[in-house]
Amino acid sequence: MDLKIRILHIDDNALDRQLVRDALMRESDTYEVISVDNRILLEKALSEENFDLVLTDFDILGFSGLQVLQIVKDKKPDVPVILITGTGTEEIAIEAMKMGASDYVLKSAKCIHGLPHIINKVLDNKRAQEERNKALSALKENEALYRTLFENSRLAIFLLTMDGKVLSVNPYACRLFEKTEEEFLKSTREDFVETKDQRFQTIIEEKLKTGHAEGELIFKKGKYKHFPGEIDTTIFKNNDGIDQTILFIRDITEKKLAEKKLYTLNKAIEQSPTSTVITDNKGVIEFVNDKFTSTMQYSLDEVIGKRPRIFNQGHLPDKEFYAMLKTLEEGRIWQKETQNRKKDGSMFWENVVISPLLDDEGAITNYIIIMDDITEKKKLFDDLVIAKEQAEESDRLKTAFLHNISHEIRTPMNSIIGFAGLLNDPDIEKGEKDQFTEAIVQSSNQLLSIITELIEIATIETGQVRITESKVELNTTLKLIYNQFQLNNKNPNVKLILNLFQTDKELLIITDSTKLSEIIVNLVENALKFTAKGFVEFGYTIDKNNLMFYVADTGIGIPPEMHEVIFKRFHQASVSTSSVYGGSGLGLSISKAYVELLGGKIWLKSELGTGTTFYFTLPYKRYLTD
Ligand code: ADP
Repeated sequence: MDLKIRILHIDDNALDRQLVRDALMRESDTYEVISVDNRILLEKALSEENFDLVLTDFDILGFSGLQVLQIVKDKKPDVPVILITGTGTEEIAIEAMKMGASDYVLKSAKCIHGLPHIINKVLDNKRAQEERNKALSALKENEALYRTLFENSRLAIFLLTMDGKVLSVNPYACRLFEKTEEEFLKSTREDFVETKDQRFQTIIEEKLKTGHAEGELIFKKGKYKHFPGEIDTTIFKNNDGIDQTILFIRDITEKKLAEKKLYTLNKAIEQSPTSTVITDNKGVIEFVNDKFTSTMQYSLDEVIGKRPRIFNQGHLPDKEFYAMLKTLEEGRIWQKETQNRKKDGSMFWENVVISPLLDDEGAITNYIIIMDDITEKKKLFDDLVIAKEQAEESDRLKTAFLHNISHEIRTPMNSIIGFAGLLNDPDIEKGEKDQFTEAIVQSSNQLLSIITELIEIATIETGQVRITESKVELNTTLKLIYNQFQLNNKNPNVKLILNLFQTDKELLIITDSTKLSEIIVNLVENALKFTAKGFVEFGYTIDKNNLMFYVADTGIGIPPEMHEVIFKRFHQASVSTSSVYGGSGLGLSISKAYVELLGGKIWLKSELGTGTTFYFTLPYKRYLTD
């Protein structure tokens, strides 16, 4: 590093030049002296090189030291100039100092001898001045910086005396508080802080105790408004050593609103009646609400950090799973009704909606899964479908029934009308007449029984059937039924058998004898109708608290899939039954309704082509004689 002090010396007298050079060199070898003797060389040297100092003779051939001074100030204003004068007067020296010369030396041997000392002093002054300038400009820079911060800050900044009198405010404070600077300067902090806010006193006390305090307060805005703000206050000493308060206030209205909104949303999700899960963008659970934990029976700890089943491969078929991922990756909502399993293993139906949450750049940050338990809804829907199917079925059956019934009514009616017409013929003989009358009676009975059945089913349907219980001699009742059928049985290939539990004694029970008889008659009638040969046997057994009746036959049998259906109204074992055997499909449903009204059950066993046995039970209520 070059530590030499470079000095440009201008003098047109060689002896004088030498004199100065010798004086400097004698003192120290740190001086490097470049000497010139005219203006051109002076300007050239100043333009091309750097110097720490210029020494100039006052009286140079053709121009003066004052001109040299001017040239140096123009070209290198920072370089100090020392004037050496042999002829100059004190006035000239003062003039030179006014023009910016740093010092002057008289051209005497004694004075020249002191030149190094003057040079050092000038250079020291220059350095000191430079330091001062630097400090000043740093100060100015700082001042400008703080001023800019103060003027442009989005914080309201106040300078206060310790007892709260306003000394200075920034423009933002004026905007925020809707007050002018003048108004502020006439006020104290009590004019803009809501003093009723109990936190105010705490903050002041804290500041006095520790020199610093912060917190939230309510502030006055304009004349009537208020706003919430965050306050930060500190004590500092001013230039005179006096304590002052500096106050920073930030408007947190927006923050509070956002917090409130967030709180509301949070509560809404937490208390939502639908299960809600929030995962990160990898599908790892970050949050589940109460409804989720209560529905799925998993606690929060058991699911946080795990993946919901819906994200697991294998739960959905591959194709659907990838379609779901694609939908979500495209930022779209995915929805499906699916079955899920609770912790206890029970399955339930839910409607799952997964929606991806996107940030401002459109990247997925989270997934929100909303699961709605639709088990009840689904059941309701399934029930509705079943009800609809039943309604359609019932409609079909009614149509079929109308066909049957019109056939069932028309056949005996036609026969009645036909034979009644024939009775009018005066030429018919007595035997024929009896035959016609008999046919009319039979057809009328048939008609009557159909109408009775219809009325009975209507009564059952409207819930108007009443049970009238009384003492019943069971064996006698069954024997009567047997005798009636025996009398009318016209098929010699079918034997009618009555099997009584106790043949010798009467069995006294309490029941509705009419209903019981109707049930048995109906079953026996069917048995005889559907049996071409073999036997029809009916009777009962006693099993603890129940009487079990049966009617067995060796008839055509009933296919297994019809064992339950035939008890429903208008149902027959096959579509051809009605055309071959007649009937309305009502008898069994009437019997079933009666059995149940009497407190029993009815069922059957049957094998196609072999025969059928109908069973029904009744509670065994004995009639107790004294
Ligand atoms: P229907 O008036 O048609 O006989 P039911 O309700 O009494 O009406 O009987 C319903 C259907 O059950 C009959 O149409 C028949 O197909 C079948 N069925 C009833 N009893 C017997 C039986 N003993 N053997 C064969 N099929 C029977």
